[in-house]
Amino acid sequence: PPISVRTLSEEIGIKANELLRKLMGMGEMATINTTLDEDLASMLAMEFGVELEVVRARTAEDDLLDSLAPQEDEEHLSPRPPVITILGHVDHGKTSLLDRIRKANVVDSESGGITQHIGAYQVEYNGKPITFVDTPGHEAFTAMRARGANVTDIVVLVVAADDGVMPQTIEAIAHAKAAEVPIVVALNKIDLPNVDTPSNVNKIYGELAQQGLNPVEWGGDIEIVKTSTVTGQGVPDLLSTLETIAELHDLKADPDRPARGTCLEASLSEGRGVLATVLVQEGTLKVGDVLVCGDGFGRVRALFNDRGRPIEQAGPSTPVEISGLDVVPTAGENFGVIDDVGRAREIAETRRGRAREAAQAERQTVTLENLYNRMAEQKVKTLNLIIKADVQGSIEALTKELEKLENNEVPIRILLKGVGGITESDILLADASQAIVIGFRVAPEDRAITQADEKKIEIRRYDIIYQVTDDIKKAVEGMLVPEV
Ligand code: GDP
Repeated sequence: PPISVRTLSEEIGIKANELLRKLMGMGEMATINTTLDEDLASMLAMEFGVELEVVRARTAEDDLLDSLAPQEDEEHLSPRPPVITILGHVDHGKTSLLDRIRKANVVDSESGGITQHIGAYQVEYNGKPITFVDTPGHEAFTAMRARGANVTDIVVLVVAADDGVMPQTIEAIAHAKAAEVPIVVALNKIDLPNVDTPSNVNKIYGELAQQGLNPVEWGGDIEIVKTSTVTGQGVPDLLSTLETIAELHDLKADPDRPARGTCLEASLSEGRGVLATVLVQEGTLKVGDVLVCGDGFGRVRALFNDRGRPIEQAGPSTPVEISGLDVVPTAGENFGVIDDVGRAREIAETRRGRAREAAQAERQTVTLENLYNRMAEQKVKTLNLIIKADVQGSIEALTKELEKLENNEVPIRILLKGVGGITESDILLADASQAIVIGFRVAPEDRAITQADEKKIEIRRYDIIYQVTDDIKKAVEGMLVPEV
């Protein structure tokens, strides 16, 4: 928590004037009433040989977080449905696949096939539910991860059999890998003429293998299911594969506790107020519960399922639409049920205050220059890189050189490597994964520059390989001199 120069002076017994002089020397203009943040106060105290102990007052939010900590007691855990997100290149069939799955497997016969779009839905296969997040495209996926929400258990990567692995396929793979989520490939549009041939299928398997997705048929661990959203071929296979993988991961949650989860979508509706689709991840959400969602709070006035039907409660892995919040939360923000309205309001207000502060304070992202300090503070454990280069040969040479650095203290993780300019999507990935973007003999696109400025993502451009490794070596040792 922040502390004023006056209080700090009293606490550590150093004259305020001396503190101010030292601050000035550190390039900070301050008066006796200036409040210093934790880092600066600690640094300043250190200058006088005093180590500050930061004691934080417990807030209601701490209580909320404690009460919502994951249940680890096996006894209380029951199996829960898997949550699936579909990713892939544009036009490869993500939307069609979602539609096909929904139409063929929605249990509710009265619905007459009319479905409400709430951002997620549940189907039943072999009597077991599977939840799909209905926001295809990795922007949504990444935006959620950027907020610390990992709602997806398994990614279905759609690859059109007539097109093969394309740039957005590679991006999607990078996103799934960064989230450490298992991938199943749907080799889609298999109904098209001349695509289901050994030579074509092998070609695509090769492209996938090159991206690190080794097909089971080739002795790897990636399941590939041939699908067609036109004939429906392979869709049941895909669902059963998802079920098998889900079982393998032994997904569980405690249904008998206050609900906790993530907001998937939210909007303001005339007449109905704030509507939010949330995914319940643990516990059971009920009408009448008081919850905090992002920096909003309220009592759940009504719950609607993915078919727009009012329901009384929703258990783990169930998407529901709720009304009753006071402000519109952002997708990716968490929610939790808390027992009294006063505390819920207090938490929401604390969060609002913090959001304002965060908006004002400069965002701390990773750069090569602050890498050493960020690592010392334990805020960064791996150096995540996104590498874009002019030709495949450059990528290979760079990767090889970077591998040689691996025996260093810092594990280097290359999240994405690709030929071509730096795109907006590279920046989004960097933002979600605390990564640095390296452009080797390539430039960023205009939109990427704007995004990088806004999100304070570092883009470093090079055209000589040893300079890349040199800078990284120096950065790791804290020796990198800022460029001017
Ligand atoms: P998205 O951009 O990945 O969501 O792709 P869409 O689902 O919008 O599909 C793009 C186009 O491919 C549409 O014209 C679909 O009708 C077509 N399409 C999708 N799946 C299949 C398939 O299995 N077979 C064939 N022949 N066409 C498909």
